[in-house]
Amino acid sequence: MIVILKPNATKTQTDNLLSDLQGMGFTYHYSEGAQSTIIGIIGDTSVIDTDMLKANDIVADVKRVSEPYKLANRKFHPTDSVFEIAGRLVGEGHFSVIAGPCSIETEEQITEVAQAVKKSGAAFLRGGAFKPRTSPYAFQGLKGEGLDLLVKAKKATGLPIVTEIMNQHHLDMFSDVDVIQVGARNMQNFELLKELGHCDKPILLKRGLSNTIEEWLMSAEYIMAGGNERVIFCERGIRTYETFTRNTLDLSAIPALKAVSHLPVIVDPSHATGLPWMVEPLTKAAIAVGADGVMIEVHNNPKKALCDGAQSLTPEQFDSVMGQVKALAAFEHKKL
Ligand code: PEP
Ligand code: MN
Repeated sequence: MIVILKPNATKTQTDNLLSDLQGMGFTYHYSEGAQSTIIGIIGDTSVIDTDMLKANDIVADVKRVSEPYKLANRKFHPTDSVFEIAGRLVGEGHFSVIAGPCSIETEEQITEVAQAVKKSGAAFLRGGAFKPRTSPYAFQGLKGEGLDLLVKAKKATGLPIVTEIMNQHHLDMFSDVDVIQVGARNMQNFELLKELGHCDKPILLKRGLSNTIEEWLMSAEYIMAGGNERVIFCERGIRTYETFTRNTLDLSAIPALKAVSHLPVIVDPSHATGLPWMVEPLTKAAIAVGADGVMIEVHNNPKKALCDGAQSLTPEQFDSVMGQVKALAAFEHKKL
């Protein structure tokens, strides 16, 4: 981190700043030039609040030369992380398909969808029990009962399950869940992220509706800082001025994250577009840009779905997408 001092900084003020930095455990490189004086701070500067330094009267500017995230950073972990989850490998060299309804509705519905997506080759079953809905009057999910039905579908099919948590106080109810999803609306719910940092389950961290890649990485860092290093990113589209699609799928986020982080990245083309017919082309695009998997909404009767029916694929449509996935994943040397 580089601190640029104002030209009028006195020796006493500068000495005070340098001794404060030493007191915080840092060493520094001091360079007095003709135009400006610069302090290069040496050490783990991820713990420094740049705004605090900027508040110092003699500081003109502060610039980070290294990223504020450490555990998620590829620099400190050059090889790609691959996680073993319920006997499946997620990460580089593998392509994981997570499929299932937006929300769990009945035992028949979730089990029927689970059997269908398994037959087509999905590796994980998804289904929401706690639903973050824009309207308080919309179906909020079956909550605990929904989790029980999801576990029943897991037992019936052997598929590991992925479901969203909205409140850290619900964590005890997630003991049979294989992957805990943090939804877009909770990407910066820091109390929830901290609590998930202490749990022993992999976390599927969706990108917030209007969050930058660096903010997303910092949210992963929150979970990892607590000791849970199994974080999987999920790009699900961001909010832009475009209204044709529900969100705008930021495909560039996949190579961007792969460049700076070692964590797996998957794509959710269902929430990204809101359009079932866009799921197939964007799944193909996700494979081409290096994603480690996709999450797709599938419902046995989309017209009657209690949530996100308009974007859900029928089991037949999903089967056809899986045909493409099998061919393209093999082309990219990825195992399903
Ligand atoms: C979901 O996966 O059903 C969901 C609510 O997604 P997101 O958080 O991406 O909107
Ligand atoms: Mn949904």
